Amino acid sequence: MSLLDIHVLGSPILRQETERVEQFTPELRRLVDDMFDTMDKAKGVGLAAPQVGRRERLAVVEVDETRLVVINPEIILKEGSVRGEEGCLSMPEIYADVDRFSRVIVRAQDIDGVWYEVEGTELLGRCLQHEIDHLHGRLFTDRLSLLKRRAAMREWEYEKAKYPKLLRVLPVGDLPKERDANTPDTKT
Ligand code: ZN
Repeated sequence: MSLLDIHVLGSPILRQETERVEQFTPELRRLVDDMFDTMDKAKGVGLAAPQVGRRERLAVVEVDETRLVVINPEIILKEGSVRGEEGCLSMPEIYADVDRFSRVIVRAQDIDGVWYEVEGTELLGRCLQHEIDHLHGRLFTDRLSLLKRRAAMREWEYEKAKYPKLLRVLPVGDLPKERDANTPDTKT
């Protein structure tokens, strides 16, 4: 297991469409493990493959007790609307209120390729929508009004200077502690 570098806004891969995952290999499992480690280290609640420079249509999510590997996801039900603050590991220090569906049901495959459905409301719903956007080259700032997007981009121009290679390299050492083996697997 290892930490992966996070691509920040400006890196072209964040704007590319991902490719459907067809093979559920040990390599894919390793990528997912590394993505969980990276997300934990960066203190995020979700991380999508393009953020670590990959083209696979997959993301990892951890909200409260819900820890999910979301592969080839589709939103099969969406309803309501709710505004809430979002940030992104690919745009450190930038936060803005984003309108999202208040409830979604997502159909996705797990790491073994088994299809499942998960309902997302509140933070989990927001996080699933944010990650699925990443898998189609979209970032949360795309969903802001023009004025708010411009304000966020101005802030980002300052922040961006910290990442000359458009990569966010997480410090080594102090790896996330081992997870409780009893953490329930809440996917359905
Ligand atoms: Zn993000």
